[in-house]
Amino acid sequence: MTEKRDILIVGGGVISFAIALELTRQGASVTILCRDAAQAATQAAAGMLAPQAEMIPPSPMLELCLHSRSLYPAWVHQLEALTGLSAGYWACGILAPKYGETGHTGEHWIGREEIHARQPGLSAEVMGGYWFPKDAQVDNRALAKVLWAAAQKLGIEIRSGVTVDLVAHREATVTHLHTNQGDWQAEHYILATGAWSEDLLPVPVFPRKGQMLSVQAPADATLPLQQVLYGDEIYIVPRRDRRIVIGATSESVGFTAGNTPPGIEHLQSAATRLYPELKRFPVQETWWGFRPATPDESPILGESPYRNLTLAVGHYRNGILLAPVTGCAIAQWVLNRTAIVPLDAFHWSRFRP
Ligand SMILES: Cc1cc2nc3c(=O)[nH]c(=O)nc-3n(C[C@H](O)[C@H](O)[C@H](O)COP(=O)(O)OP(=O)(O)OC[C@H]3O[C@@H](n4cnc5c(N)ncnc54)[C@H](O)[C@@H]3O)c2cc1C
Repeated sequence: MTEKRDILIVGGGVISFAIALELTRQGASVTILCRDAAQAATQAAAGMLAPQAEMIPPSPMLELCLHSRSLYPAWVHQLEALTGLSAGYWACGILAPKYGETGHTGEHWIGREEIHARQPGLSAEVMGGYWFPKDAQVDNRALAKVLWAAAQKLGIEIRSGVTVDLVAHREATVTHLHTNQGDWQAEHYILATGAWSEDLLPVPVFPRKGQMLSVQAPADATLPLQQVLYGDEIYIVPRRDRRIVIGATSESVGFTAGNTPPGIEHLQSAATRLYPELKRFPVQETWWGFRPATPDESPILGESPYRNLTLAVGHYRNGILLAPVTGCAIAQWVLNRTAIVPLDAFHWSRFRP
């Protein structure tokens, strides 16, 4: 079987769907080929929209992240209006508590008294911290459902259970994708394959495993946390439905699946050190995922070695944050060879010797 479409996008995560929706809005006919949406890092993430708390140094990457954060409210609003579903966007701000005061300054720094007033219940060891009121969060699992529903509403074809095992090409032109469900052809191809991208093309994207857990705040009290806590070795993300997401380890263990006792132990001890009240809350779930890392921790966007294949991979720790800007920029790049943001700094060839 050879199926032919305008554009084929490979991947079942937030990046693939963000691009597909934008391309469709601009009139293209798009099909998504997705091995398994459940394995996507999109499902595993914490959903922080945190360019400032992540302390990304001044760079094109920081500009990209800030731009995407600014697009978020309208992007989510549009998706929610289309689907009638909530993505759990919450402009709650992010507080980054520090155990030692030495050397910390700047416009976002707040002292001991102020941080404990802003967030009662923090560890007595907290000496101050940074307050980033513009950082935010989205419920990434809810967002994934909204994106899926929006794609269906706009008539995007989603083929699940399809594994692409070969990008077939003749010189610099991709001729088709070979999959476990036949060959697929299109005018243009987009790879949004997250941590698995190196299976298909020689791009330096590798998995960085993150283990996570969640606890459930009791229903009878006011929501104890009203903002994200971004500690030195842990983050604590309260959802409005009283779920509290705690993450994350950062491990170079390839695609080794599963939660480990040391991983969970680290999350529990670091989280309860920062916010001791968590000791009272029942553990709800543990899980893990694979961040698509690159050597410089920035994504690979735009051109590929093939004239009819575009790359949107390697979003590492910030793929949920970067979804709106990536969707927009890649759609524009594919359709018009321009983009709302300069993509030069994210070109794949920067990793060539
Ligand atoms: C523990 C953890 C915490 C995180 N926290 C945050 C956070 O707070 N904020 C933030 O912005 N980001 C966070 N991230 C990062 C974010 O989740 C990723 O950057 C983002 O999900 C990448 O999206 P993606 O669509 O590129 O890849 P993914 O979501 O991984 O999706 C890739 C998809 O491609 C499919 N696929 C792969 N290969 C093939 C193939 N050959 N054929 C067919 N399909 C294929 C997979 O099945 C999968 O569905 C976190 C990640 C992890 C793991």
